[in-house]
Amino acid sequence: TTHQKIALVTGANKGIGRGAAEQLAELGMTVLIGARDARRGEEAAAALRAAGGDVHAVTLDVTDPATVQEAAKQVEERFGHLDVLINNAGITGSGQVSPQDAYDQVPSSVDLDMVRAVFETNVFGVIAVTNAMLPLLRRSPAPRIVNVSSHAASLTITSDPDGPLASLLSSAAYSPSKTALSALTVQYANELRKDGILVNAVAPGYVDTDSNNHTGFLTVAQGAEVLVRLATLGADGPTAGFFSAEGPLPW
Ligand code: NDP
Repeated sequence: TTHQKIALVTGANKGIGRGAAEQLAELGMTVLIGARDARRGEEAAAALRAAGGDVHAVTLDVTDPATVQEAAKQVEERFGHLDVLINNAGITGSGQVSPQDAYDQVPSSVDLDMVRAVFETNVFGVIAVTNAMLPLLRRSPAPRIVNVSSHAASLTITSDPDGPLASLLSSAAYSPSKTALSALTVQYANELRKDGILVNAVAPGYVDTDSNNHTGFLTVAQGAEVLVRLATLGADGPTAGFFSAEGPLPW
């Protein structure tokens, strides 16, 4: 019997996560759409099923430990294992501010509660979901974890005063949260290296989604490609790396 690969993508009811879910389904994987809103998760899963994929919705709010535990229990009961985890769910600011406002939050005037909310989703949520899913990933012959970061995570890129991101992304919340996600990626990769679990961070590029009010110039399909590439690495693939579609990025 062949091993059916199971992939879970968080925040996959729309945007880049949904694009990655679609591509993984096209590769023949069973794909679980993590969504904090059950109805919107079901709608996305139904649309991808209509396109021929084996796609199911799982209710999962990365900031709500009860839903994280329940999601892990459901994956265990229905499939018994997990092969791919893509930690994609992310926010640029709290619900009260527009994405552009969130990017414009300079450190000297940033709303600390917004910083907390962004870290809760982009960083602490990744720890919660990863730790809940690790026992299931350990049952896979080739487990892969992909953390969806950003060029804005790179201290090398954002500290260049002449670089594009120093002026564009003056966020005291989003960029530091993604830098913390990079640090976390390395820590997980180092712990899990001996177990053959490859853990990498990716930057999708500037993608046309709700998160930037559709100002991005890449399509969701283009942005999702690097997630899928790192989710489908062979045994000799990298771990503790940071990649865009063009190749390795500086931390
Ligand atoms: P979207 O806003 O289109 O999608 C974000 C997804 O995350 C949605 O499904 C959203 O659910 C979900 N989400 C947010 N909070 C939670 C939560 N607490 N629990 C579960 N799901 C949650 O954004 P993108 O597709 O653009 O972003 C996806 C990832 O890519 C993010 O990590 C983002 O930081 C990253 N990224 C995006 C870039 C871009 O240019 N678009 C550039 C660099 C990185 P809901 O629909 O319920 O809000």
